[in-house]
Amino acid sequence: MTFVGSRFGEREEELVDLDQEEIITQAGRCLMQTYGRLPLALVRGEGAYVWDAAGRRYLDFVSGLAVNGLGHCHPRVVEAIRAQAGVLMHCSNLYHIEPQVRLAGLLIENSALDRVFFCNSGAEAVETAIKLARKWAKKRHGPERYEIITALQSFHGRTLAAIAATGQPKYQQGFEPLPPGFSYVPFNDLDALRAAVGEHTCAVMLEPVQGEGGVNVAAPDYLPGVRALCDELGLLLILDEVQTGIGRTGRFFAHEHYGITPDIMSLAKSLGAGFPIGAALAREDVAAAFTPGDHASTFGGNPLACAAATAAVETILESGFLDQVTRTAGHFRRRLEELRARFPMIKEVRGLGMLIGAELNRDAAKAVQGRCQESGLLINAIGDRILRFLPPLTVTTAEVDAAVDILTTALAQESEG
Ligand code: PMP
Repeated sequence: MTFVGSRFGEREEELVDLDQEEIITQAGRCLMQTYGRLPLALVRGEGAYVWDAAGRRYLDFVSGLAVNGLGHCHPRVVEAIRAQAGVLMHCSNLYHIEPQVRLAGLLIENSALDRVFFCNSGAEAVETAIKLARKWAKKRHGPERYEIITALQSFHGRTLAAIAATGQPKYQQGFEPLPPGFSYVPFNDLDALRAAVGEHTCAVMLEPVQGEGGVNVAAPDYLPGVRALCDELGLLLILDEVQTGIGRTGRFFAHEHYGITPDIMSLAKSLGAGFPIGAALAREDVAAAFTPGDHASTFGGNPLACAAATAAVETILESGFLDQVTRTAGHFRRRLEELRARFPMIKEVRGLGMLIGAELNRDAAKAVQGRCQESGLLINAIGDRILRFLPPLTVTTAEVDAAVDILTTALAQESEG
């Protein structure tokens, strides 16, 4: 056992069994090689910062891919987990679970939807939404209505139905045959959507901002247009807010920016502030399609996860919190626009709230990401053209400026090189 705690300064109690190189070597030997991991092992986090196993500190503008909305180890979330862990850590859904009821109440009070099913991840929330839409449509319209239309460049998770729903062949290849009943249309194209609706269609599923697909924001009139089309044709509108929900875009849900409400919504990521939890929400009459025995999850709505999520949601819904997110995100966006004016390699800056992408006009995203990492800033590269920035919602203006300084140097070096 290597004692590396002293490298963390004040936190002498930190113990890490393996040093960074050993962790990376062991990962290569014993984990299924499903991820193209960066050569860093992160061992501690606090606020907007994380530390690697070698004791180096980074500003974290990845936030566990939009999970650590409250930054790392938010005291309120840590305390809620501690308190609940000593009371009831797990309990079967054969029984009623008080923390589940509290969290569901909070989500319902703050959305236009009426009922919640808890699960453990985004993909499971999407699976729940798909199953519910099919069940509803069969009851409402008959057995031939099962198809769900999704968008090209969408991302809905990695389970089989979720990759079938995902409008990107690269996630599907090698895993065929996929569950049938999905078709894809270009995002932000209402005419294409109308043309794609057929006799089997039961629902449309969209992300308000396509996160994994490259930070593509729904046009202001697109979601209202889709809502009207769904109402006209008797289709359900499912919004996948796994990445955009729970404050990420400066509103509690991203669809609030568009003045519409979905019939079903999937949530995960930021919901548990780092604790794995997902949820599918639905309107009362849609949720009624599920009857006892239809759907279940052993861990779904686990008391510990619900206690963490309740603390997270209460914090995000406190007066002024989301206004502050919007202000800081506006500052970050302006700083990125300044960089675009200065560096021709930045083609476009786009996003909503604290979900921001910068598209480059050449394959340099991985190189820029690597340079930032060397200088103490973690950002995400989607392919080699798009930089994605997902700071904690609690990030300060000073932390944004520190990140922009590092990014500026990285872009300058990459522009020269
Ligand atoms: N839907 C969306 C919109 C997502 O961004 C993601 C994760 N990136 C998922 C679903 C899948 O979530 P999970 O990885 O928790 O299964």
